[in-house]
Amino acid sequence: MRLVLIGPPGAGKGTQAARLAEAYSVPAISTGDIFRANVKGETALGKRAQEYMSVGALVPDEVTNAMVKDRLGHDDLDAGFLLDGYPRNPEQAVELDGMLAELGVALDAVLEITAGTEEVTKRLLNRARLEGRVDDTEDVIRKRLEVYVESTTPVTAFYDGRGILVRVDGIGDVDHVTSRILAALDAR
Ligand code: ADP
Repeated sequence: MRLVLIGPPGAGKGTQAARLAEAYSVPAISTGDIFRANVKGETALGKRAQEYMSVGALVPDEVTNAMVKDRLGHDDLDAGFLLDGYPRNPEQAVELDGMLAELGVALDAVLEITAGTEEVTKRLLNRARLEGRVDDTEDVIRKRLEVYVESTTPVTAFYDGRGILVRVDGIGDVDHVTSRILAALDAR
C-alpha cells in the first residue's frame, strides 16, 4: 500500500497514520516528525526547519524534497509506505511524482481527512496544553490553517483529477474515524 495522507493541522493525520501503518504493515513517514526530531537533535536541517515551523510556514521545498527523497531511498519500503505531511503544495506533488517514477512505483491512494476550522483549532489548542508543541499557539495555528487552504488544498484537486483521492470525515472518535478510513480505502 502506497498512501499519502492529507488534512488540515489537527485533523488527526498523525494518529490515523500510526494506525494505518499498522493495519497495512508499512512504515509511516511523517515530514513533521522528521523535522521535529532534527530540531530536537539540533542538526543543521533542524536549525533551518525551525525558522519556518515556529511561524507556521512551510519549510522550503528544496529542503523538504531532499529529505523525503533520502527517506524514500531506504530499503524498508518494499511493502509500501504511508506519507504523512507530504506533499503539501503542488510543487512537492510534482517532485514526488518524479521520485516515485524513478523508484518504479505509483501511489495507490491519497487520503484526505477533513475537519472544519473551528474543530481543528479547538483540538490544537487542547493539544498545546497537553503536549506543549511550540507551533500550537493561536497565531501560529491560524497561519498553519491559512497555509493549508492556500498551498495544500490544491494538492487534493491534483490527485482528485487523477482519480485516486479518497475523502473521509475526520470528525468523531478516533476508532470510528479509523474504521471509516479502512472502509473507504477498501471500497476503492
Ligand atoms: P500539522 O499538520 O499539524 O501542521 P506537521 O507535524 O505535519 O503538523 O508539520 C509541522 C510543520 O512542519 C509545518 O507547519 C511545516 O513548517 C513543517 N512541514 C511539515 N511537512 C512539510 C512539508 N511537506 N513541506 C514543508 N514544510 C513541512
